[in-house]
Amino acid sequence: MAGVSRLQYTTEIRLIRVMCSGRVDLEFVLRAFSNGMDGVFIGGCRLNECNYSTHGNYHALNMVLLCRKIMEHVGLNPERLRIEFMSSAEGILFAEVMSEFGNKVKELGPLGKGERIDQNELKSKLAEITKLVPYIKLVKKEKLASRLENPEEYDRLFTKDEIDKLFSEVISYYIDPEKCQACMTCAKRCPVEAILSAKNQVHVIDQEKCIKCGTCFEVCPPKFRAVTEIVGAPVPPPIPEEKRTIVRKSKPR
Ligand code: SF4
Ligand code: SF4
Repeated sequence: MAGVSRLQYTTEIRLIRVMCSGRVDLEFVLRAFSNGMDGVFIGGCRLNECNYSTHGNYHALNMVLLCRKIMEHVGLNPERLRIEFMSSAEGILFAEVMSEFGNKVKELGPLGKGERIDQNELKSKLAEITKLVPYIKLVKKEKLASRLENPEEYDRLFTKDEIDKLFSEVISYYIDPEKCQACMTCAKRCPVEAILSAKNQVHVIDQEKCIKCGTCFEVCPPKFRAVTEIVGAPVPPPIPEEKRTIVRKSKPR
């Protein structure tokens, strides 16, 4: 509507259309910042006027509330991320909000520089958090599905302490080479093929691919209990390939 009505608004934006604001994933926002965007704006339909039964705009709102706290955690000004809800007929409102947001981002300055964060440090922090997105979404899935009716509740959905704890107590999974019996159950159930699996070989989790869903921990048979949860601590290095073969004792005749 803003374009059809020839309304003027900031020219520094790049529009990316999606079918629903709920499609805008936390990872997209983090990637935009990693790629050097100074601000991200998400425009969704008015709350409770979603075209879909999924109410995707509430998902978008919760994702933004979470992302803003994550931004605070890494030292970025959360005002660089904004969400607004409006109908397609509200061109004037869109133009006003875009110009206002453009001015705000200019006032904040280039990403990271405005906050005096070292650029390399910022890049590596954003990359680290982006890798944890599936884990973050899993751990916070109940809050991410909330439907907050009152804007006064927005700032309380996620707290700073909660987000600091989320990153200081990240869970990792590790297969104990002394206990693994290569039954292959975990590898068959891993949703992202993160477990290096071969017959009669101790199984190993590829930590780069693992999304920390915990399935391997749950499905490893109780008689083996080979998968352990490690909270907020480094994972031991994988056992070298040449030492992975399991030597089974032959049964006495
Ligand atoms: S935690 Fe999930 S993703 Fe990671 S290795 Fe286990 S099953 Fe695969
Ligand atoms: S389920 Fe347990 S015992 Fe079986 S391969 Fe995986 S880690 Fe090893």
